[in-house]
Amino acid sequence: MTNIILLGPPGSGKGTQAKLLAERIRVPHISTGDILRAAKETELGDRASEYMNRGELVPDSILIAMIEDRLAKPDCASGCILDGYPRTIPQADALNRILSGLDLRIDLVINIDVPDDRLITRLSARRVCECGATYQLTFNPPQAKGVCDLCGGALYQRDDDTEESVQNRLLVYKRETQPLIDYYENLGLLTTIDGSGSIKEISGEIYEHVQ
Ligand code: AMP
Repeated sequence: MTNIILLGPPGSGKGTQAKLLAERIRVPHISTGDILRAAKETELGDRASEYMNRGELVPDSILIAMIEDRLAKPDCASGCILDGYPRTIPQADALNRILSGLDLRIDLVINIDVPDDRLITRLSARRVCECGATYQLTFNPPQAKGVCDLCGGALYQRDDDTEESVQNRLLVYKRETQPLIDYYENLGLLTTIDGSGSIKEISGEIYEHVQ
Protein backbone atom coordinates (compact mmCIF):
# COMPACT_ATOMS: atom_id res chain seq x y z
CA MET A 1 0.00 0.00 0.00
CA THR A 2 1.48 3.36 -1.03
CA ASN A 3 0.03 6.79 -0.41
CA ILE A 4 2.11 9.51 -2.00
CA ILE A 5 1.62 13.27 -2.15
CA LEU A 6 3.10 15.29 -5.00
CA LEU A 7 3.77 18.87 -3.94
CA GLY A 8 4.92 21.69 -6.16
CA PRO A 9 3.96 25.09 -7.52
CA PRO A 10 1.56 25.44 -10.46
CA GLY A 11 3.52 24.56 -13.59
CA SER A 12 6.02 22.31 -11.80
CA GLY A 13 4.77 19.30 -13.75
CA LYS A 14 3.24 17.58 -10.75
CA GLY A 15 0.06 16.63 -12.64
CA THR A 16 2.06 14.97 -15.44
CA GLN A 17 4.33 13.19 -12.98
CA ALA A 18 1.46 12.11 -10.73
CA LYS A 19 -0.28 10.53 -13.70
CA LEU A 20 2.86 8.68 -14.86
CA LEU A 21 3.65 7.42 -11.38
CA ALA A 22 0.08 6.27 -10.75
CA GLU A 23 0.14 4.25 -14.01
CA ARG A 24 3.51 2.79 -13.13
CA ILE A 25 2.67 1.65 -9.61
CA ARG A 26 -1.00 0.95 -10.45
CA VAL A 27 -2.80 3.09 -7.92
CA PRO A 28 -5.42 5.79 -8.57
CA HIS A 29 -4.28 9.31 -9.48
CA ILE A 30 -6.35 11.75 -7.46
CA SER A 31 -6.19 15.31 -8.78
CA THR A 32 -8.49 17.67 -6.90
CA GLY A 33 -8.18 20.19 -9.77
CA ASP A 34 -9.44 17.52 -12.22
CA ILE A 35 -12.33 16.60 -9.89
CA LEU A 36 -13.35 20.27 -9.61
CA ARG A 37 -13.10 20.82 -13.38
CA ALA A 38 -15.15 17.67 -14.02
CA ALA A 39 -17.86 19.07 -11.73
CA LYS A 40 -18.66 21.93 -14.12
CA GLU A 41 -22.39 22.52 -14.63
CA THR A 42 -23.07 21.28 -11.08
CA GLU A 43 -23.57 23.54 -8.05
CA LEU A 44 -20.12 22.58 -6.74
CA GLY A 45 -18.53 23.23 -10.13
CA ASP A 46 -20.15 26.67 -10.44
CA ARG A 47 -19.00 27.68 -6.96
CA ALA A 48 -15.50 26.34 -7.53
CA SER A 49 -14.94 27.91 -10.96
CA GLU A 50 -15.32 31.43 -9.50
CA TYR A 51 -12.29 30.80 -7.31
CA MET A 52 -10.37 28.79 -9.89
CA ASN A 53 -10.63 31.36 -12.68
CA ARG A 54 -9.20 34.02 -10.37
CA GLY A 55 -6.35 31.74 -9.35
CA GLU A 56 -7.68 31.54 -5.76
CA LEU A 57 -8.00 28.42 -3.66
CA VAL A 58 -11.43 26.84 -3.31
CA PRO A 59 -12.44 26.90 0.41
CA ASP A 60 -10.96 24.19 2.64
CA SER A 61 -14.37 22.90 3.77
CA ILE A 62 -15.27 21.95 0.17
CA LEU A 63 -11.92 20.29 -0.52
CA ILE A 64 -11.81 18.37 2.75
CA ALA A 65 -15.29 16.90 2.20
CA MET A 66 -14.33 16.07 -1.38
CA ILE A 67 -11.12 14.24 -0.49
CA GLU A 68 -12.76 12.41 2.40
CA ASP A 69 -15.35 11.09 -0.01
CA ARG A 70 -12.76 10.09 -2.62
CA LEU A 71 -10.39 8.34 -0.21
CA ALA A 72 -13.23 6.21 1.13
CA LYS A 73 -13.73 4.63 -2.33
CA PRO A 74 -12.59 0.99 -2.57
CA ASP A 75 -9.94 1.66 -5.26
CA CYS A 76 -7.91 3.65 -2.71
CA ALA A 77 -7.41 0.59 -0.53
CA SER A 78 -4.21 -0.16 -2.48
CA GLY A 79 -2.93 3.41 -2.11
CA CYS A 80 -3.11 6.55 -4.22
CA ILE A 81 -1.16 9.47 -5.65
CA LEU A 82 -2.48 12.81 -4.42
CA ASP A 83 -1.97 15.68 -6.87
CA GLY A 84 -3.05 19.17 -5.79
CA TYR A 85 -4.16 18.13 -2.30
CA PRO A 86 -3.31 19.24 0.35
CA ARG A 87 -2.73 22.89 -0.51
CA THR A 88 -3.10 24.38 2.99
CA ILE A 89 -2.10 23.37 6.52
CA PRO A 90 -5.76 22.76 7.57
CA GLN A 91 -6.14 20.46 4.53
CA ALA A 92 -2.99 18.55 5.57
CA ASP A 93 -4.27 18.21 9.16
CA ALA A 94 -7.61 16.95 7.83
CA LEU A 95 -5.81 14.44 5.59
CA ASN A 96 -3.96 12.97 8.58
CA ARG A 97 -7.25 12.62 10.40
CA ILE A 98 -9.06 11.05 7.42
CA LEU A 99 -6.25 8.58 6.69
CA SER A 100 -5.85 7.47 10.28
CA GLY A 101 -9.62 6.91 10.43
CA LEU A 102 -9.18 4.52 7.49
CA ASP A 103 -6.13 2.92 9.10
CA LEU A 104 -3.91 4.40 6.38
CA ARG A 105 -1.01 6.85 6.38
CA ILE A 106 1.12 8.98 4.06
CA ASP A 107 4.26 7.14 3.01
CA LEU A 108 6.09 9.81 1.01
CA VAL A 109 5.80 13.45 -0.03
CA ILE A 110 7.64 14.44 -3.20
CA ASN A 111 8.25 18.14 -3.66
CA ILE A 112 9.01 19.19 -7.24
CA ASP A 113 11.12 22.33 -7.21
CA VAL A 114 11.16 24.69 -10.23
CA PRO A 115 12.33 28.35 -10.33
CA ASP A 116 9.55 30.99 -10.69
CA ASP A 117 10.61 32.34 -14.09
CA ARG A 118 10.32 28.86 -15.61
CA LEU A 119 6.89 28.32 -14.08
CA ILE A 120 5.43 31.37 -15.78
CA THR A 121 6.86 30.38 -19.17
CA ARG A 122 5.60 26.80 -18.78
CA LEU A 123 2.07 27.72 -17.72
CA SER A 124 1.54 30.18 -20.53
CA ALA A 125 2.62 27.49 -23.03
CA ARG A 126 0.40 24.77 -21.50
CA ARG A 127 -2.42 23.33 -23.60
CA VAL A 128 -4.81 20.65 -22.38
CA CYS A 129 -7.37 18.24 -23.79
CA GLU A 130 -10.73 17.12 -22.35
CA CYS A 131 -9.29 13.57 -22.18
CA GLY A 132 -6.79 14.69 -19.52
CA ALA A 133 -3.69 14.92 -21.72
CA THR A 134 -1.40 17.93 -21.17
CA TYR A 135 1.10 19.48 -23.60
CA GLN A 136 3.71 22.26 -23.58
CA LEU A 137 4.01 24.15 -26.84
CA THR A 138 7.78 24.42 -26.36
CA PHE A 139 9.14 21.17 -24.94
CA ASN A 140 6.26 18.68 -25.20
CA PRO A 141 4.19 19.81 -28.20
CA PRO A 142 1.45 17.70 -29.81
CA GLN A 143 2.33 16.10 -33.16
CA ALA A 144 -0.28 18.15 -35.02
CA LYS A 145 -0.87 21.75 -33.95
CA GLY A 146 -3.89 22.11 -31.65
CA VAL A 147 -4.81 18.40 -31.79
CA CYS A 148 -4.46 15.84 -28.99
CA ASP A 149 -2.10 12.94 -29.87
CA LEU A 150 -4.12 10.54 -27.74
CA CYS A 151 -7.73 11.17 -28.72
CA GLY A 152 -7.69 13.68 -31.60
CA GLY A 153 -9.60 16.24 -29.47
CA ALA A 154 -9.09 19.99 -29.80
CA LEU A 155 -6.50 21.42 -27.39
CA TYR A 156 -7.29 24.54 -25.38
CA GLN A 157 -5.77 26.82 -22.76
CA ARG A 158 -7.13 26.47 -19.21
CA ASP A 159 -9.08 29.52 -18.00
CA ASP A 160 -6.64 29.86 -15.10
CA ASP A 161 -3.50 29.77 -17.29
CA THR A 162 -3.96 33.42 -18.27
CA GLU A 163 -1.13 35.72 -17.18
CA GLU A 164 -3.16 37.48 -14.47
CA SER A 165 -4.42 34.26 -12.96
CA VAL A 166 -0.98 32.62 -13.14
CA GLN A 167 0.61 35.50 -11.16
CA ASN A 168 -2.07 35.13 -8.50
CA ARG A 169 -1.71 31.34 -8.34
CA LEU A 170 2.01 31.73 -7.66
CA LEU A 171 1.34 34.23 -4.85
CA VAL A 172 -1.32 31.96 -3.36
CA TYR A 173 1.05 29.00 -3.64
CA LYS A 174 3.77 30.83 -1.69
CA ARG A 175 1.38 32.01 0.99
CA GLU A 176 -0.79 28.93 1.50
CA THR A 177 0.97 25.87 0.10
CA GLN A 178 4.71 26.45 0.50
CA PRO A 179 4.45 26.08 4.32
CA LEU A 180 3.58 22.42 3.67
CA ILE A 181 7.21 21.83 2.68
CA ASP A 182 8.33 22.45 6.28
CA TYR A 183 5.25 20.65 7.60
CA TYR A 184 6.16 17.40 5.83
CA GLU A 185 9.91 17.91 6.34
CA ASN A 186 9.23 17.96 10.10
CA LEU A 187 7.29 14.73 9.78
CA GLY A 188 10.30 13.16 8.02
CA LEU A 189 8.27 12.43 4.88
CA LEU A 190 9.66 14.96 2.38
CA THR A 191 11.92 14.41 -0.62
CA THR A 192 12.69 17.36 -2.91
CA ILE A 193 13.40 16.80 -6.59
CA ASP A 194 14.76 19.26 -9.15
CA GLY A 195 11.88 19.72 -11.59
CA SER A 196 13.82 21.44 -14.37
CA GLY A 197 14.84 18.28 -16.28
CA SER A 198 12.86 16.42 -18.93
CA ILE A 199 9.59 14.60 -18.12
CA LYS A 200 11.41 11.28 -18.46
CA GLU A 201 14.36 12.25 -16.25
CA ILE A 202 12.08 13.51 -13.50
CA SER A 203 9.76 10.51 -13.63
CA GLY A 204 12.80 8.21 -13.38
CA GLU A 205 14.05 10.08 -10.34
CA ILE A 206 10.63 10.00 -8.67
CA TYR A 207 10.30 6.27 -9.27
CA GLU A 208 13.72 5.65 -7.67
CA HIS A 209 12.58 7.44 -4.51
CA VAL A 210 9.31 5.54 -4.44
CA GLN A 211 11.12 2.24 -4.61
P1 AMP B 1 -4.74 22.30 -10.35
O1 AMP B 1 -5.39 21.56 -11.46
O2 AMP B 1 -4.17 21.38 -9.29
O3 AMP B 1 -3.74 23.32 -10.82
O4 AMP B 1 -5.91 23.11 -9.61
C1 AMP B 1 -6.62 24.12 -10.28
C2 AMP B 1 -7.38 24.99 -9.29
O5 AMP B 1 -8.32 24.17 -8.57
C3 AMP B 1 -6.54 25.64 -8.21
O6 AMP B 1 -5.92 26.84 -8.65
C4 AMP B 1 -7.61 25.91 -7.15
O7 AMP B 1 -8.44 27.00 -7.51
C5 AMP B 1 -8.47 24.65 -7.24
N1 AMP B 1 -7.97 23.60 -6.33
C6 AMP B 1 -7.47 22.37 -6.68
N2 AMP B 1 -7.09 21.69 -5.59
C7 AMP B 1 -7.33 22.50 -4.53
C8 AMP B 1 -7.12 22.39 -3.13
N3 AMP B 1 -6.56 21.28 -2.59
N4 AMP B 1 -7.50 23.42 -2.34
C9 AMP B 1 -8.08 24.52 -2.85
N5 AMP B 1 -8.27 24.71 -4.15
C10 AMP B 1 -7.92 23.71 -5.00
